[in-house]
Amino acid sequence: MSKSDLTDRGWDSVDIILVTGDAYVDHPSFAASILGRWLEKQGYKVGIIAQPDWRKDADFLKLGKPNLFFGVTAGNLDSLVANRTSDKKPRREDMYTPGGLAGKRPDRAVTVYCNALRKLFKNVPLVIGGIEASLRRISHYDYWSNSIRRSILFDTRADILVYGMGEKAIVQIAEKLRDQQPLVDIPNTSYISDFLPKGVGLELASYEEVLVDKNIFTKTHLDYHKFVAADKKTKVVQKCQNKYVVIEPASLLSTEEFDALFELPFARSAHPIYEEDIPAYGFVKDSVVSHRGCYGGCHFCALGIHQGKRILNRSMESVIKEVKNIIAEDNNFKGNILDLGGPTANMYSSECGAAEPCERASCLAPTPCKFLKLNQQKHLELIKKVNSIPSIKKVFINSGIRFDMALLDKEYAKAIIKDHVSGQMSIAPEHICDSVLALMNKPKNNKFEEFEKLFQEANKKNKKEQYLIPYFISAYPGSKLQDMYELAMYLRKKHIKVKQVQSFIPIPMTIASVMYYTEQDPATGNQLHVAKDEERLWQRALLQPWIKNNYNFLKKALMKIGKSKDLDYLARD
Ligand code: SF4
Repeated sequence: MSKSDLTDRGWDSVDIILVTGDAYVDHPSFAASILGRWLEKQGYKVGIIAQPDWRKDADFLKLGKPNLFFGVTAGNLDSLVANRTSDKKPRREDMYTPGGLAGKRPDRAVTVYCNALRKLFKNVPLVIGGIEASLRRISHYDYWSNSIRRSILFDTRADILVYGMGEKAIVQIAEKLRDQQPLVDIPNTSYISDFLPKGVGLELASYEEVLVDKNIFTKTHLDYHKFVAADKKTKVVQKCQNKYVVIEPASLLSTEEFDALFELPFARSAHPIYEEDIPAYGFVKDSVVSHRGCYGGCHFCALGIHQGKRILNRSMESVIKEVKNIIAEDNNFKGNILDLGGPTANMYSSECGAAEPCERASCLAPTPCKFLKLNQQKHLELIKKVNSIPSIKKVFINSGIRFDMALLDKEYAKAIIKDHVSGQMSIAPEHICDSVLALMNKPKNNKFEEFEKLFQEANKKNKKEQYLIPYFISAYPGSKLQDMYELAMYLRKKHIKVKQVQSFIPIPMTIASVMYYTEQDPATGNQLHVAKDEERLWQRALLQPWIKNNYNFLKKALMKIGKSKDLDYLARD
């Protein structure tokens, strides 16, 4: 992190410098840390510049010039999502900064950092990665500027982009640069080429074409999503300004490599320079990752297009080893593992039984695929094994049980509800109107109701007082005021007060971002109602109608649809 750290190690230079928009926490949940440790294992000397002040040169210069490259990421979150609310206003907190202080990373951090580095280190290769770069690898809709933007490779002038999970790619990039080889044919990467390379399996419509034609824009995204879902092993290209953006196919780590990643010597703490706690670290400190990937295919989510839909599992032995390390090394550990899962906890160990993966983004929606081999009992077995380790009091599952999956194995669902819920169970129905749920690629509302019933019956049987915490999205494309009114009445009747609401943000490259921009259902071409401007606030107010600040928005929303009679009913506390 500093010149004195280098001196302590007897280094006069480093091979690779990772620049990140997050504070530096040496824990496997933080991208710069996991990649830094992974590179260190392969014998490279790695420096980290965390949250540099981008308005000055000093922070970028502090570790000198790296022998191989700078790796640049905005951090674990897209910088615009980290910095701005869904209404594009500045956020007051940044969970990845000591003390939760806002303002420590710029908007469009990857581009800002790269431009600062390019000015200071003209010939040092720039490698970009993380969620911000990964979701901007082709021409995409950008909510923050309300425009279609080119691949981020152009704005950053980076030499290569790493998409998805970058361990394999970053090591190959380091090897190629060390051996002075061109940066081509590296899995999970993208770069700009002057010519059309060999081995192209899909040529997307060009940036210039998608810019002027919404139908072409939609088709391009659908084509790319299908290609990624099918895990095809050929290149994708997109022409832009007489050059080609080339995207190499993805490649996953093996289970052995994945296990090895979590067995690296993480300090499991924030760097000692920080005096205040980093809130995001508090959430993951006593949590363990069991797998990556998600085959849910929700249209608003970027996970499938980032991590892929194939599930990469850790072995049970590796998970148990990590838990034992936490027990041994953390004097403040209270005996509870707060989460044991992945993007969707109950996808651990499930797989596709078909000969080849197909082009479906979701193996679950509209109905579960006959080839999907669920293995929720294996997840339960893992939880029970961890729970039986001496010193472990409880293992909780907080990383999102997908309830429609849990209903396919009720014994699993009942066991989780009985022993692994910490009083409140977060689930994500997202809406109650089936027409909106279909546009989200989510199961129908009757699945939520079925799960709710099972949850209540299980709690009654176990004599436990536990609550479901459902998450809902307002202003989703296709969600009309009338739909939000129905949701508001539904919640009121059930006495559910939603604590946190998510006002829809179109994340680049998601199918929902395509809907938001084109105002069309990509499946049918039908026109969609898309809430914009003040209607977004009205829709959100319908999710939390009892909040005083929402009253005027609620009133206007109800007036608009002729439901003013329900104002007092909905607004009362
Ligand atoms: S489980 Fe079904 S939907 Fe999923 S990849 Fe396999 S064949 Fe496709």
